[in-house]
Amino acid sequence: MELASLPAVDALLRHADAAPLIEAHGRAPVTQSIRAVLQQLREQKTAGLGADQILSRVARHLEQRAQPTLRPVFNLTGTVLHTNLGRALLPEAAIEAMAAVARSAANLEYDLEGGRRGERDTHVERLVCELTGAEAAAVVNNNAAAVLLVLNSLAKGKEVPVSRGELIEIGGSFRLPDIMARSGCRLREVGTTNRTHLRDYEEAIGPKTGAVLKAHTSNYAIEGFTASVSEAELAKLCAARGVPLVVDVGSGALIDLAFPKVPTVGKTLKDGADLVTFSGDKLLGGPQAGIIAGRAALVAKIRRNPLKRALRVDKLTLAALAALLRLYADPDRAVQRIPTLRLLARPLDEIHEQSVRLAPLIRNRLKEKVEPVACESEVGSGAAPTARLPSYGLAIRPGSNRLAARLRALPVPVIGRLEDGALILDLRTLEDEATFVAQLERL
Ligand SMILES: *Cc1c(COP(=O)(O)O)cnc(C)c1O
Repeated sequence: MELASLPAVDALLRHADAAPLIEAHGRAPVTQSIRAVLQQLREQKTAGLGADQILSRVARHLEQRAQPTLRPVFNLTGTVLHTNLGRALLPEAAIEAMAAVARSAANLEYDLEGGRRGERDTHVERLVCELTGAEAAAVVNNNAAAVLLVLNSLAKGKEVPVSRGELIEIGGSFRLPDIMARSGCRLREVGTTNRTHLRDYEEAIGPKTGAVLKAHTSNYAIEGFTASVSEAELAKLCAARGVPLVVDVGSGALIDLAFPKVPTVGKTLKDGADLVTFSGDKLLGGPQAGIIAGRAALVAKIRRNPLKRALRVDKLTLAALAALLRLYADPDRAVQRIPTLRLLARPLDEIHEQSVRLAPLIRNRLKEKVEPVACESEVGSGAAPTARLPSYGLAIRPGSNRLAARLRALPVPVIGRLEDGALILDLRTLEDEATFVAQLERL
């Protein structure tokens, strides 16, 4: 057959098989897909296809195009808060709160009592204060933005002493020295990589100091011959010298958790930090956000900074965050209601039973060896960099990149980790077992 014999676009659009496609996707996308498929056929020099065969290729092309690029996956990597996989899963209450304000106008910056302009941070400020003992709080886009904004507001053109042991880089380009440079302050390194003493800070603080910064070493631990200065000691020194102490705790815990053992934001404030910054989507278990909590006068100064406007969050984030914070008011049930905390607290025997239940189902689908195995989960996102949590998973052997790709090609892609020649699926984070099992038949 001649290549010229491929049907014309118009003829394909008029074909009976095109009607349901136009109904489902619209005329313009169908026309576009027909052109794309015809182009492919010309390039591959494929001829002799009937209109119905071409339109079934068009249907597949349209289906692929209609898939959103951002979609749900099963995070079975063993890292509960996986930055590349979107960190925290939101509690139902937060999802409902987001949907409600998404559909409707909302009093985002409107004071319903006074009938006048309001401040968007008020929707979470009172809750943050109640839960942490802070005098005031502000919310921005993420914790990197919080650190940037705090330093720019308090220490632009001034020096900020930081321990050399805390000059962190966090995955994806959060480098503390770079953020400090962008905020317009000058980093004054104190101490050494492994040891920093109070006298190092004492010598560094002077008339040029804008603030002292302490940063949680989120993704590493310095062990061996080490010394660092506690928040409480540093706070006393800062108070005596009249400079604010800012603590970037990274992952903000509001209640004492069985795992990981990290100080709460309230404890850090009680120890004397003037401002604490933390993420909304790490241990807190909410939407991406950066929260700044502490002294009212400092938060007021931060609110007056024009950068705050550039870094502000929208009504969806505030609705989700407020709903999440309300769950913390009832700490007994917070762990069950907040998915991040629930997954970290999941009983080991429950995960074990799940691995025994699922192993044969997967074995039947794959022609590989599938066995329950003991493994270790981690919190992720720098909450407790060295802490590991016993878990159970499925080990598929031999684990290969090809096998991993097959699992990623499922309707809800399954992401595990390759380790010692096996593909490990850590089941700690598998709650929607029904969907997981239902799609196995596609393997
Ligand atoms: C994660 C982290 C950040 C960055 O927070 P994002 O919310 O991801 O912007 C900053 N500082 C510390 C100590 C962290 O652990």
